[in-house]
Amino acid sequence: MTVLTIADHRRGDLRDVSFELLTAGRELADAVGTDLHAAVISGNVEEFADDLNREGVDQIHTVEYGEEFNHDVYAQAVTALTEDLGAEFLLVPNSVNGLDYAPAVATRLGRSYASDAVGLDYDGTLEVTREMYGSKVETTVEVTEGPFVASVRSGEWPAAEGVGDADVSAFDFDVDEDAVGSTVKGFEEVGGGDVDISEANFLVSIGRGIEEEENLELVEALVEATGATLSSSRPIVDNGWLPKNRQVGQSGKQVTPDVYLAIGISGAVQHVAGMKGADTIIAVNTDPNAPIFDIADYGVVGDLFDVVPALIEEFGGE
Ligand code: FAD
Repeated sequence: MTVLTIADHRRGDLRDVSFELLTAGRELADAVGTDLHAAVISGNVEEFADDLNREGVDQIHTVEYGEEFNHDVYAQAVTALTEDLGAEFLLVPNSVNGLDYAPAVATRLGRSYASDAVGLDYDGTLEVTREMYGSKVETTVEVTEGPFVASVRSGEWPAAEGVGDADVSAFDFDVDEDAVGSTVKGFEEVGGGDVDISEANFLVSIGRGIEEEENLELVEALVEATGATLSSSRPIVDNGWLPKNRQVGQSGKQVTPDVYLAIGISGAVQHVAGMKGADTIIAVNTDPNAPIFDIADYGVVGDLFDVVPALIEEFGGE
């Protein structure tokens, strides 16, 4: 039995979820009593393999092909590697890419598949915890038969750290070019420039408590004074006050900053689903019963129009 994780990268960088998968994979491998293998498919495999070589990884496999994600290449390569290793447990990121190829791989291998896993427990059989109905319900799925594929939600496990001593080897595999039906022609950012809130260490996040678009200036001043990155709950994006790439939550982005400062955000389950992996959560809300306080490490029950100017002053802003 082997646990195999597949790294995710975008525009030349490994995504954090790749390292989180190593932690999830290591925990599962320890419970099963087996090795953890990791794989990366890219044109830049050497640098990526170096980066993936963290504590707890036993073996790294590389497939050198293309710079960007390609469904057909991933489906072929991941299927072939899983079969070659006889890997019982295949963990992929629950990302746009992972969700694209994981079901295809599971089908090709004839395996069970669970998406959006937030917990993996092994005690003779595997139990996968998943969230359903917009994160309102948590379900436990028992995998009673055979090998298994799961896509794992980002932000649920800490990223693996340290420097490992894994063996790195190129997987001997030739892509069947006749079966590659599409290629990426290029990328164009849609609104919001190149800000990626999922990579930010300090997010100041604003919600409906801000009341009006003009009031965003106040929060932007706090962002400037603290060097944070601005994000928001969904209503702010739905109102067209901020671009979609700033939205945190179930239908936005999953974020795992060191600090998440939620201002005028109630803490609806769909929002919390995107930010509960933050190290430190601070909430500012007039309502002491707002659900955001249930998960906040620090909270201020107060009016943001008083608290934010005080914070700006504290940080020496204007
Ligand atoms: P509200 O819930 O209206 O909260 C505003 C808060 O501000 C309140 O707690 C209030 O007490 C406080 N407040 C008001 N005035 C002040 C003040 N002056 N000072 C301080 N505090 C103040 N939401 C997301 O955020 N992200 C998602 O990805 C997402 N996906 C969704 C997917 C689905 C399928 C569905 C059904 C919903 C989704 N939602 C999402 C919406 C979600 O259910 C909530 O409606 C939304 O998160 C609420 O945003 P909010 O907290 O900004 O607003």
